[in-house]
Amino acid sequence: MSDETTDETPICSAKGCRAAAVWVLAWNNPKIHTPERRKTWLACEEHREHLSQFLGVRGFLKDVVTLAEWESAGSAADR
Ligand SMILES: [Zn+2]
Repeated sequence: MSDETTDETPICSAKGCRAAAVWVLAWNNPKIHTPERRKTWLACEEHREHLSQFLGVRGFLKDVVTLAEWESAGSAADR
């Protein structure tokens, strides 16, 4: 159990948080990404707002959807 990058159980992207992710925050930094590019952060219930605000104040946040919704929506998602 030393590998943190298994994709079996998506974990919240908040620093130090090990909770299972429930939300996907899709974002884009116009300085380094092309407009159609989407980076994603995962968030648990507790950190969704915090992470959304972090991206929101920078103008990076594009979309917030549930993990289930994101996975069913998108094989086209950025990997
Ligand atoms: Zn969290």
